[in-house]
Amino acid sequence: MLLKLSKDIVNSELFRSVSEISAQKIMSCYQCGKCTAGCPLADKMDYVPNEMMRLCMLGQIEDLLDSKAIWLCTSCFQCGTRCPKGIEVHRVFEALRSLALREGKNYTDIEELPKEVLDEMPQQAIIAGYRKFESLE
Ligand code: SF4
Ligand code: SF4
Repeated sequence: MLLKLSKDIVNSELFRSVSEISAQKIMSCYQCGKCTAGCPLADKMDYVPNEMMRLCMLGQIEDLLDSKAIWLCTSCFQCGTRCPKGIEVHRVFEALRSLALREGKNYTDIEELPKEVLDEMPQQAIIAGYRKFESLE
C-alpha cells in the first residue's frame, strides 16, 4: 500500500514538474534538517526547508504553492552546501515559485506599490522583483 502511494506521488504531474524543473532527487531527502538549521530565513517561513521537502515527498505540493516560504527563499545556497545528500534545496523552492506563477499566483502586484516607493527603488530591484514575484500576464 505504501509503495503504491509512493508511486502515485512520484508519477503525479505536480511532483514530476517540481522534479524536472529543479533537477533534484527529491525522494533522496532523509529529513536530517541541516538545510533548515542553516537557513537565514527559516524563522520567517511557514514551511521551513526540510518541511517543504517532506511535503513534496508526501505529494502535498498544492499547499506549498500557496505558502509564503517559496517567496522568501533568497537562493543564498546555504542549504545546498549543508545537505549531506547533495540536494540543492533552493532549486526546489525555485521550481515551486515557477509553478505558482504559471498558475497565476503572483506574490506582488506592481500596480499596488505606492508611487513614492517606485520613485525611490533602484530600477534593478524593480526588475528583479518582477522576475521573481510576478508572472507579468
Ligand atoms: S539537508 Fe538535505 S537531506 Fe537533510 S533535510 Fe535538508 S534536503 Fe533533506
Ligand atoms: S537558499 Fe533559500 S532555503 Fe536555502 S538557506 Fe538560503 S534562503 Fe534558506
